[in-house]
Order: sequence, then structure tokens, then C-alpha cells
Amino acid sequence: MGQPTLEEFRRWLQTEISALESTENGGVEEERLLQLDIALQEAMAFSAAWKLRAEASVKPTIRERSVRLVSDGPQNQGPPANTVKCNSCDADFDEDLGFCPVCGETR
Ligand SMILES: [Zn+2]
Repeated sequence: MGQPTLEEFRRWLQTEISALESTENGGVEEERLLQLDIALQEAMAFSAAWKLRAEASVKPTIRERSVRLVSDGPQNQGPPANTVKCNSCDADFDEDLGFCPVCGETR
């Protein structure tokens, strides 16, 4: 049969959806139906986006990153390496800072 095409994927989804819709089982398959609906929408959105990019002679799978995503922020998500405890309020702060940002105590 070879590799399935996107069109075949869409047809498969639609078949699954109509099979589910024809069975009355008290909303047990509601979640599955929603999944299939979303997958179908994604498949169509993908198809449309691909077509647009192909028409504009843009390689569809390569996306330029024009905007930095918020999640791509600084990689050091953990606590700073050299944190010290404030002598007066017990707050943790970076030793390099030289003072407690909570109470202003200097070290
Ligand atoms: Zn403090």
C-alpha cells in the first residue's frame, strides 16, 4: 500500500468520527470524538499552511524564528549557584548582589 497520504489520514479521521457518531453510548466516546475533531482541524490547517508556503516558495518545514519565545528565556532556571542567607530576615539572595533585596541588610 505504500505510505499513507495526508488525504488518507483525513479520510480515516472522518470515518472514525462518523463511526463514533452513529453509535449511541451515552457520551463515553465524547473525549475521543473531540480528539478526532481536533486532529482533523489540525490536518486541514497543516494542509492549508503547507499549500500557502509552497505557493510562496518557502520551505514548509523550516521556520524562521523572528520572535524569541518567552519559554526560550534564560536557561538557568534553578536557584543561583552562590546564594546566601540574610543575617537579619533569613531570605535567600545572590551573594554577588551584596545586599538583601528583601530587607536591605548589607553583608
Ligand atoms: Zn534580609
